[in-house]
Amino acid sequence: MDKPSINIVWIKRDIRTIDHEAFHVAESMELPYIPIYIFDSELIKHPDTSDRHLQFIFDSIIDINSKLSEFNKEVEMFYGSSFKIFEDLLSQFKIENIYSYQESGIKSSWEIDLKIKSLCKDKSINWTEFQRDGIIRGIKNRKNWNKNWHIFMHGEIINNSFDKQEKIDFKNNFTLPASFLTKINKNKNKFQPAGETMAWKYLISFSKERVKNYAYNISKPEKSRMSCSRISPYISWGNLNIRLVYQHLLELKKKKKNLRSINAIISRLHWHCHFIQKFEVDCTYETEFINKGFETLKRDKKPKYIKAWENGLTGYPLVDASIRAVKETGWINFRMRAMLVSFFVHNLDQDWRNGVYFLAKQFLDYEPGIHYTQFQMQAGTTGVNTIRIYNPIKNSKEHDSEGIFIKKWVPELKNIPVEFIHEPWLMSEMESKFYKFKIGIDYPNKIIDLDMTSKKAKSKIWGHLKNKKVKEEKKRILKTHVNQR
Ligand SMILES: Cc1cc2nc3c(=O)[nH]c(=O)nc-3n(C[C@H](O)[C@H](O)[C@H](O)COP(=O)(O)OP(=O)(O)OC[C@H]3O[C@@H](n4cnc5c(N)ncnc54)[C@H](O)[C@@H]3O)c2cc1C
Repeated sequence: MDKPSINIVWIKRDIRTIDHEAFHVAESMELPYIPIYIFDSELIKHPDTSDRHLQFIFDSIIDINSKLSEFNKEVEMFYGSSFKIFEDLLSQFKIENIYSYQESGIKSSWEIDLKIKSLCKDKSINWTEFQRDGIIRGIKNRKNWNKNWHIFMHGEIINNSFDKQEKIDFKNNFTLPASFLTKINKNKNKFQPAGETMAWKYLISFSKERVKNYAYNISKPEKSRMSCSRISPYISWGNLNIRLVYQHLLELKKKKKNLRSINAIISRLHWHCHFIQKFEVDCTYETEFINKGFETLKRDKKPKYIKAWENGLTGYPLVDASIRAVKETGWINFRMRAMLVSFFVHNLDQDWRNGVYFLAKQFLDYEPGIHYTQFQMQAGTTGVNTIRIYNPIKNSKEHDSEGIFIKKWVPELKNIPVEFIHEPWLMSEMESKFYKFKIGIDYPNKIIDLDMTSKKAKSKIWGHLKNKKVKEEKKRILKTHVNQR
């Protein structure tokens, strides 16, 4: 008997039902289709992935399934090798088309896609991959990139509609193992809630109320938790896309209020695609220097330092509070992220590659295209961006002057007066006794000297900018990644 013909909608980082081109095209076809999501066993093992990501994905799918069920549809979840899963589906069906979004993922996900591409070729399957946000596949430079970004963002939003279909009967031979579900759901409710429904709640609460303080609090570790949009995980896993947010903010602009904040967040939507575009062009930035001239820059590998940084025990209160906050909640603001990288690479003198996966795993909004390129930019290894060494004491005094954020995440310091919160080592013996707080016992002494290491780091990194290879690479990077009007 002939196998029934079907189409597939392969969901990746686009777990939503609004402005979804793959769903839209599949719905317009005669053939029935199955929407699928694959928890690829190889990708799950990759050192960038953590349970909080997987739980966010799982809950996002449950959320859209609650909407799709009305139309007799649901995203079928699979666990295992993507290749074997497609082979298995092919043993049950004649797959005519696969519809998905282009994924600007890590090298391993690209390699998986290549295997599926060759399978498609063998079996005469058409795989259509739609453009994700403003990121364009196959370009060699940024000529007209800005213009195209704006055209895409002003494009019509797809008003997805779903028709009721006969449910397609088939056997899922790669269901999610119970142990996997137990593992990823262990910390359920600890992090920002996932899914398209919550994404809109966050976006609307931002535009109604929280936006007014956006631009003023963006650098403050505590206040930004409320005044930043906090939509990043929803964008990263595709519960929202950039176009939906962009057009929502343009509508908001018409009210002529909070314009500074609205313009600031709109420019960040542009940055979002700008960074991912770099990674789309070259995904080796996950493991290799953006500017190859930095390969020869020596770092001092000290596992003791790496552990102290990861555990929030460096003795620098703002660094420790930021690490502990992101481990516990999955989010910190941009400035604290940049400061953590700067401290790790410049002050602790560690290779960026020994910290990059650790933070990827903590960020609920982990997006490879932004993460590796931003990490390297903060580590000063692009050779084209201004190098900034963030001073955690100065940042602490300026952005957490009362130590509210620090006291929340470093409770060891909660009873010491504000004058010592940024530099607890300054306490005299008398004061130490008075506040029953001993540096080195109740809280670690600073593991490095900030002034000395900053000075050393400056001469090291600025000195290296003179390297011949760094200069050559600079030209290539500017040509490839800098927007040309
Ligand atoms: C080392 C490092 C790693 C980072 N890793 C990630 C990551 O994995 N995923 C991620 O989404 N962001 C990352 N960022 C960028 C930024 O910190 C977050 O996007 C932002 O803090 C998310 O909070 P929000 O949604 O409230 O942002 P808002 O300030 O409200 O901005 C709205 C959206 O704009 C985009 N955006 C904001 N800032 C930036 C930026 N600097 N670069 C690119 N896009 C931006 C995000 O999609 C964000 O959701 C990283 C920054 C650094 C320094």
